[in-house]
Amino acid sequence: MNNLIVAIDDIHPEKGWGVEGDVQIEYLKKLNEKFGVKFDFFVPSNYHNKFPITKEFVDFWKQYDWVELNAHGHFHACEGEAIKAKSPDGQDVWMELGEMEFLELEYGPAVQRIQESLNLWEQCGHRPRGFRPPGWGVNQQSADAISNYFDWVAGHNEIHDGITWGCQFFEGRDGIHQTDNIQLYGNTFMFTSHINGTHNDNVWNEENFLHFEKVLEYLLSQYKIQFKTISEIK
Ligand SMILES: [Zn+2]
Repeated sequence: MNNLIVAIDDIHPEKGWGVEGDVQIEYLKKLNEKFGVKFDFFVPSNYHNKFPITKEFVDFWKQYDWVELNAHGHFHACEGEAIKAKSPDGQDVWMELGEMEFLELEYGPAVQRIQESLNLWEQCGHRPRGFRPPGWGVNQQSADAISNYFDWVAGHNEIHDGITWGCQFFEGRDGIHQTDNIQLYGNTFMFTSHINGTHNDNVWNEENFLHFEKVLEYLLSQYKIQFKTISEIK
């Protein structure tokens, strides 16, 4: 038996990004009704310091037992623009931070940021068990902080090479739009996606929805599959 996980990043209370009435939600509902697909949402708790999660938003999603709400940083944004890093050949280089919130935080500030986030989650009546770093970005200190607060982290098998996690680590990054080279991690298929946005190809638009439906039909014809959330296979 194989597990199949579908992760969706960046869901937050903004029109088009995972609120009632959004077309993307209809796609997710259809996949759940047709195949029984479950979803792991990775939710920034105060996206760009503009869209704090609300009890109404959390309650809306908690009514569906096929959705797990996980943490995805607090602001999903950085204060700085770049950070000094080492290139593969040992040179000092400037690396753009982009939205890699936890790449610029050392241990103490990372703990503070997580507590700020979890306080807001708690006010909304939910304690997320899983975490994915925004933009996949962490350093060893912020990874240590994250490990202290969450049961598991969903990360990137290559980018997170060399980082030690003090909690369970799930790898996998096949996009919902991908056509080939879909791989098994152990006995689990792990699809990643974004609810919306212009930076990524794996967003929930109609084209990707129709494509992913075909991918599922194919995988179901070839494998014995059970749809799970990550906490259900932890
Ligand atoms: Zn993100």
